[in-house]
Amino acid sequence: MECLRNLEECLGLMVSPTKSNIFLAGVRGIVRERILEGIGFEEGVFPVRYLGIPLVPMKVSDQDSYLMKRLIIIRDAIVRAYGSRERAISGLSKMVIGGRFASGKVYELLRVGRNKKSWMTTIWKNYIPPRFSFVVWLTCGNRLTTKDNLVLFDHPDRTCRFCKGPLESKQHIFFSCAVVGGIWM
Ligand SMILES: [Zn+2]
Repeated sequence: MECLRNLEECLGLMVSPTKSNIFLAGVRGIVRERILEGIGFEEGVFPVRYLGIPLVPMKVSDQDSYLMKRLIIIRDAIVRAYGSRERAISGLSKMVIGGRFASGKVYELLRVGRNKKSWMTTIWKNYIPPRFSFVVWLTCGNRLTTKDNLVLFDHPDRTCRFCKGPLESKQHIFFSCAVVGGIWM
């Protein structure tokens, strides 16, 4: 612990015992217990994890949860953006500002610059209430939380909640639902 405290003083990087692990090899019995007791870190297990994701060249498998699949895809995209796993870890460490992880910086890193859609300038106008523009923006980007878009969450009932009819989709809600159609008249 003393050498870690010296490191803290030299680099200004604080060691967080709750987020740190110690890996021991070839140390058993009382010596092992004393080391673990003295350092106060939890004993680590392989594979090493960073931000909850194993740092091994692990591929997405069917058994993984949706969240884990997304995390692995994001992890691989971050590694690709930096060029190597080591550089990615170093880069992510620099995204901790004032003890808080700046997730917006990761978003900027992974964001793909896209061409502006022609309809963007049509929907965002001063005279259109922002809530209406927002709904149209979600609809055009296919991000409206209609039940057909909630497939990933395994929503059991996909029928329209208004007419209890067919699949609830943006086409149905805006153009063919008999109940909602009355609102647009
Ligand atoms: Zn309907």
